[in-house]
Amino acid sequence: MTHRWPLHPAPGQGEALTSWLHRLATVYGMNFDQLVSRDLTPPGVLMPSRLRSLDLEAPSDLITTVAERTGVPEKRVHRMTVAGWVPWLLDSLQPEEIPRSSYQTYVRQDSVLFTFKERPYREVLDWRAWLPLHSKERRVSRVCPVCVESTTDNSFVLTLIAQLPITLTCPHHGCRLAPAFGPYEFVGWENNKINKRPALGQIIIQDARTEEALTTGKVTLPRRTIHVGVWFRLLRTVIEEISTTLSNLRVRPRRMIELIWREAGHPVRAGIIGAARTYESLSWPQQEMLLEAAATAMQLVEAGKIEAHGTLGHLLTREPDRTVHDGAPSRGLWDGAHAAADECLVRAQQDPLVAEKVLATLTSLTRSEHSFQRIRSDLIALDIPEEFLPRTLATVRAI
Ligand SMILES: [Zn+2]
Repeated sequence: MTHRWPLHPAPGQGEALTSWLHRLATVYGMNFDQLVSRDLTPPGVLMPSRLRSLDLEAPSDLITTVAERTGVPEKRVHRMTVAGWVPWLLDSLQPEEIPRSSYQTYVRQDSVLFTFKERPYREVLDWRAWLPLHSKERRVSRVCPVCVESTTDNSFVLTLIAQLPITLTCPHHGCRLAPAFGPYEFVGWENNKINKRPALGQIIIQDARTEEALTTGKVTLPRRTIHVGVWFRLLRTVIEEISTTLSNLRVRPRRMIELIWREAGHPVRAGIIGAARTYESLSWPQQEMLLEAAATAMQLVEAGKIEAHGTLGHLLTREPDRTVHDGAPSRGLWDGAHAAADECLVRAQQDPLVAEKVLATLTSLTRSEHSFQRIRSDLIALDIPEEFLPRTLATVRAI
């Protein structure tokens, strides 16, 4: 029978398993390897290479033991590993049963910007979403400089998501994450100079949506709420589409992709020349550019500046669903409308795009500037930041 540890730091929000085990080990005067190989698993069971990949997948016995020792539910401990996010973040960690099926199912089952016809055929073998193609590749830890400065050694939390090329910013401070030496704790910065360039507004929105996906299991898009699994597939599909070789595209999609990269302020396809490359195998600076361009693409769709013709494209458009009714609205419809209005208000307090949309909707029948300003003041009184709201009726009409 295993005993409960008397004292332990609780896992942080989104913390990776190795980060938490390292902090636990420190409390008991051990290092990470000693805690795992002496106290959590029978001696010799876990090879050193396996210790390094516990954030990817941890043996179920180890998860059970950690849960028993700490009182943290097994499910939560499992969620501190990538395997705990199957099938939402990726379909499986196992080798492909049918060659090329992982990539086909995750990236090519749907489309966002392109129609199926517009998308050039491509296949990838032994692929896993968001993870390097070759398991020997070192996964980079990315860390928020403000979090490092504002925490003491043993309270610093290394998150699981920041080890994957999915987000660029800290959900608490909004600043860019920087590559750091780890793997379980912050040891030092990988580059002498930290990139302090402020994150683009659209990247902060994209990362906030990913954070919402991870904490609530859903993402609120302008038109509807989608499941966490759909969000990660949508994001990865946009990344794939904007990295398509231009010579393989017809005129319309090619112009759209060029516009997206121009607006993102990066060279087309993050500077990649020639044949398509797999996102997961790119360098972090290239992945950074692709994430920024993906966020820009979504922003352009939401603003109506480009049209998303793919099967998931409608999720990003800002027009509400048009449902035809042949009689008076039912009570259920009004209940739904109230719930939707409440949800919109909460989102508008945090998301400029939603705030803009709420103001545009409430003033859609307004003709005078005076009425517009009154509605705008009401929204500000409801804690929607003033800077999120277009200043005049003419501005909101022009959007
Ligand atoms: Zn931070």
